[in-house]
Amino acid sequence: MGGPELYRRIEDLVRQLLLAIGEDPEREGLRETPRRVARMLIEELLSGYFDDPRRYLKTFSVEDEEVAAPIRIGDVVVVNDIPVRSMCEHHMLPIIGLAHIAYIPNGRVLGLSKFARIVNAFSRRLQIQERLTEQIADFIYSEISPQGVMVVIEAYHMCTIVRGVREPMKMVTVATRGRFSEDPALRSDVLTLVFSPRRGLEAILSLSGLRGTSNSGQ
Ligand SMILES: [Zn+2]
Repeated sequence: MGGPELYRRIEDLVRQLLLAIGEDPEREGLRETPRRVARMLIEELLSGYFDDPRRYLKTFSVEDEEVAAPIRIGDVVVVNDIPVRSMCEHHMLPIIGLAHIAYIPNGRVLGLSKFARIVNAFSRRLQIQERLTEQIADFIYSEISPQGVMVVIEAYHMCTIVRGVREPMKMVTVATRGRFSEDPALRSDVLTLVFSPRRGLEAILSLSGLRGTSNSGQ
């Protein structure tokens, strides 16, 4: 994680921002804001810049019961509903959604919790959703050498919500490598299974842990 100098620089920038809009950074409610914003950016929203996804690459034999994925279609292992919290690079506002990863292992599988950490490491940077999807697919394809990988991300961009667009719009991006790029039937099997176009903002907030604890969203 960034050193004290990084915290100081960001705190100072936030103070400058407050001054620029005519606020008083010394008033009660704002006094701690620069420090809070710096911590939030460095430790949470932009923590991917200080995180190397390669440290989550511990793999297991495909026969290992403990890492059995919840969903399998033949050889395909599917890990779905992984929370995505990212930040759009055009407006620096949150992107909130879910990632679904399907892959065909080459004898080795990745521990389930590692997928969430890998998604996190790439998400918590300034991103665009298309590039985020491609980066996760490339990383898994090159680092664990599966026969194929497919990454689907469905997400809402706060910049389209808070800036007065009428309806919150869900954006869906797909990246495929290996056998998923060659076989449309394989792709559509996975899409049918993991991705429901009826899943709205409410369900995504709930599944990504941002609202309530229910898993009832369809
Ligand atoms: Zn944006």
